[in-house]
Amino acid sequence: MNLKTPLKALSGIGSYYAYKLQALGIVTIEDLINHYPFRYDDFSNVSSVSLAKEGEKVTLQGELWSIDATYTRLRKVITKAIFNDGSGPVELIWFNNPWIVKTLKAGDKLQISGKVSLYKNKYSIIAPTWERLSSSNNSIHTGGLIPVYPETEGLSSKWIRAKIATLLPHIKNQIEDPLPDHIKGDMLSLPEAIQKIHFPENFKEVTKARERLSFDELFFIQLSSQLVKKEWKQKPIVKPFEIDTEKLDQFIVNLPFKLTEAQIKVIADICYDLRKHEPMNRLVQGEVGSGKTVVAAAIMYLTHLNNLHSLYMAPTEILAFQHHRTVSSLLEPYGIKVGIYTGSRKKAKNCDITIGTHALLSKKLEAENLGLIVVDEQQRFGVEQRSLLRARAKVPHFLTMTATPIPRTVALTLYGDLDLSVIDQMPMGRRLVKTHVVPARKRKDAYAFIAKKVEQGDQAYIITPLIELSETLTTVKAATVEYDRLRKQIFQKFKLGLLHGRLKSKEKDETLNDFKDKKLDILVSTSVVEVGVDVPNATIMVIESAERFGLAQLHQLRGRVGRGEKESFCLLFTENHDSSIYSRLKNLEKIYSGLILAELDMKIRGSGQIFGKLQAGRFELKIASLTNLDLVQKTKKCAQQLLEQDPKLDKHPLLKAKLPGPTGGVMPD
Ligand code: ADP
Ligand code: MG
Repeated sequence: MNLKTPLKALSGIGSYYAYKLQALGIVTIEDLINHYPFRYDDFSNVSSVSLAKEGEKVTLQGELWSIDATYTRLRKVITKAIFNDGSGPVELIWFNNPWIVKTLKAGDKLQISGKVSLYKNKYSIIAPTWERLSSSNNSIHTGGLIPVYPETEGLSSKWIRAKIATLLPHIKNQIEDPLPDHIKGDMLSLPEAIQKIHFPENFKEVTKARERLSFDELFFIQLSSQLVKKEWKQKPIVKPFEIDTEKLDQFIVNLPFKLTEAQIKVIADICYDLRKHEPMNRLVQGEVGSGKTVVAAAIMYLTHLNNLHSLYMAPTEILAFQHHRTVSSLLEPYGIKVGIYTGSRKKAKNCDITIGTHALLSKKLEAENLGLIVVDEQQRFGVEQRSLLRARAKVPHFLTMTATPIPRTVALTLYGDLDLSVIDQMPMGRRLVKTHVVPARKRKDAYAFIAKKVEQGDQAYIITPLIELSETLTTVKAATVEYDRLRKQIFQKFKLGLLHGRLKSKEKDETLNDFKDKKLDILVSTSVVEVGVDVPNATIMVIESAERFGLAQLHQLRGRVGRGEKESFCLLFTENHDSSIYSRLKNLEKIYSGLILAELDMKIRGSGQIFGKLQAGRFELKIASLTNLDLVQKTKKCAQQLLEQDPKLDKHPLLKAKLPGPTGGVMPD
């Protein structure tokens, strides 16, 4: 057994759990021990029933006197147990946990941890964590600081905790510390940090562990980014561009809308780069809907005028198809041929521009006359550029576009390799998407409102709940059920379509086209529509179980509407009455900055589950926070110094092995 051993090879982890783990991105033992808790329950207060007060978090040791399950009218199960520690009885209550009554029985001796609350006028503990009292006395689920992990349906924190607790002791001495001593300084060693992040004695240890792990995370981004930067700037470009300003102006004038000043400024920034003799490496950041695609189209037009080919890479097929349509309509009038290249559709012979997904990378990089690559929402950091460096003697200009909000100072420090342009303005006439949190009791009114709007010719999206962290079969099934319900019971009069990630790409494309062409009134969809779908006539965005999404993600979803001149609405449905959830969602009624919402997400993260990571982009971090500018700067400096001494990391093979690469994990030579 070693760090790379796949979990499914271990006894006790069948294919069911392996599948669930995969939804969390966990495949190997190493992945599992790098799955960090996002918070800790402090159950170090070992108390007794007679001393416990309402609101207190306590750990108790005693015996179960009785345990029974009852069913409510809605077929929900409530399990109640009486627990006594000698000083008195307390009631334990579990909701919707049918297994507990099969697992525990009267007479069991337990240690339990939980928060004392008053339920129907009696002291009780709701959903306590528990474990059997044993003589060895090394509890992991109760007592002390208990780690709480990002979970997914069918995979609890308790399960994850137990697995890590069994595996870590066997594997800990195999964890090598990649940091040289002079950089590590007085931080914890990597094995220590991993031990303490999972099983800390106190919060001070948590802080130390987080310090070390955050450092590593940012440090590797810095290393990787600086390595690419150096190599990139050393390579020659295919040829410097001539900018035909007259033709560019003509293109801009012929557009169906007037470009914003911000868009024009960004195009100018890029033109400046294109004239140079070194390859451009620029990041364009702009909120959802700020109009990045047309900027890309303008630059691809210029590239064509220089007799060079452009590649435009989208994160998903749906988006590639959409970009293909948009760019074709913008550029075909100029006699430009736009091809498409994705996993399922390949029509890219004899074209001037090729639009596609990552499939492009493996195929199209050899083209002699490749002058420009545009990457929309890059997925894994620096990977595309590395592939380019490897594949070619001469490199094209490189343009990355992102809607992921990161503060400018942070972007500049973290991605010193990139020049940064920001589209900090929305197109004229855009109105803020009116947003309302809709509780269960107002659902009927909301449906009536939607029906009225659709009758007037508007279109709506209905986003079904994200049930698991990534789009699994469960999520797809839920979407299908909801689609049938809406079609048969709520919106019988209208034409509905269904979109989810498991459809064949042809079907996806057809559905989306039908929606675009107004052959469908309402598009029921999983959150696959999040990333960049553009239908200006759609004015209503309904999001089911909105509490399952992060605020920034909801903001991106709502950016799908409000793209035309009409007033648009976003309705956030939630059945959850918890006041903290409600007030979290309420932020979207007032805040329209993706950046502020992303920062709020980071703050709130400590208190709840993590949300699906659909638009992960290049800024996805596990433990470090981009708002920690000090650490961002410190890691930058360390990376610089190290690369000065050891430019190719030949003396630090452990570091080199950890850098991300096209094959996931290993840097190409
Ligand atoms: P994003 O920046 O999220 O990629 P898109 O490029 O998809 O945004 O543009 C969103 C919508 O705004 C598209 O329908 C596009 O045609 C339109 N658009 C882009 N620029 C302008 C503009 N200056 N004025 C009006 N509409 C614009
Ligand atoms: Mg876009």
